[in-house]
Amino acid sequence: MTERVGFVGVGTMGKLMAINLLKHHHAVTAFDLNPAPLDELREYGAEVAASSAEAAATGEVVITMLPSSPHVEEAVLGPGGVLEGMRPGTVLIDMSTIDPLVSKRVAEQVAARGFQMLDAPVSGGSVGARDASLTIMVGGPADLFERCKPLLECMGGNVIHCGENGMGEVVKVVNNLIAGVSMAVTAEAYNIGLRAGADPKVLYDVISKSSGRCWSHDTNHPYPGIVPTAPANDNYAPGFMVDLMRKDLGPAISAAQGVKAPAILAAVAEQLYGSASNMGYGRRDMSAVVKAIEALSGSIEGG
Ligand code: NAD
Repeated sequence: MTERVGFVGVGTMGKLMAINLLKHHHAVTAFDLNPAPLDELREYGAEVAASSAEAAATGEVVITMLPSSPHVEEAVLGPGGVLEGMRPGTVLIDMSTIDPLVSKRVAEQVAARGFQMLDAPVSGGSVGARDASLTIMVGGPADLFERCKPLLECMGGNVIHCGENGMGEVVKVVNNLIAGVSMAVTAEAYNIGLRAGADPKVLYDVISKSSGRCWSHDTNHPYPGIVPTAPANDNYAPGFMVDLMRKDLGPAISAAQGVKAPAILAAVAEQLYGSASNMGYGRRDMSAVVKAIEALSGSIEGG
């Protein structure tokens, strides 16, 4: 079944996801504050809207793929926003990574106007978006999930229902907390090992067969010359950017506060990614957090 889809936010991820919908013969009407990706999408057969409301008005489903919580609140609830354009029966799917509590609040306001919403953040980066192999974590009513699953499967390889509204975002920020902290600790550990004189290839050989192994170590290693396909070998070309990881640690800390749980490692990692960003690595791959750790290291000679 083909659907009419309004698509708001066609940046790095949204543009590639919209192209996959077009490849499955869905009719896409896109809107973005930046006109450049809209011109590109036209070449793939998309229509272009003049506002979020106009994009929403064309669709049976409207998808938002925006940077962070304030962007989603503005594009959905603000003047000229999605909610102004939605027609009876239109479904909103927000695929941005945002604060779970904000997502829940937006869903409540959408419901108060008689509409239904899913939160459906993704994991897999721009490669996953291009190859339609994203993992999509979905929060919202089970019947709405079933109704939207075929559409989501045009963009992702693993589409998983996580629970009620906001629960997709909870699962996403928990995943990214693990990814963010494990990258930072891989960088910290290698910085110590290399400064102590360990051979990087020996370190990799042992750890990739031992209990320290993880995605940050085995696949996205922060030091160049160890994992050939890791962004570190390409001057940390993203990948998943330092600034996005920093942004995602905020919702993890906020989610922890909401349930009176500690987020100690999340707070430390947020400072490290923030420092890497301040050093100019914000738009480099998250593995560039190693630059902040190296910068904090003293001279081995004791200077
Ligand atoms: P991006 O900054 O490349 O794209 C966001 C787009 O939204 C931009 O084109 C921007 O112009 C547009 N935008 C902002 N405010 C708008 C508004 N009010 N109305 C219309 N358009 C607006 O970001 P991205 O990398 O595509 O990420 C989108 C979301 O996906 C983020 O929440 C991010 O955390 C998440 N995510 C990104 C990756 C990744 O590797 N890039 C991976 C997984 C999840």
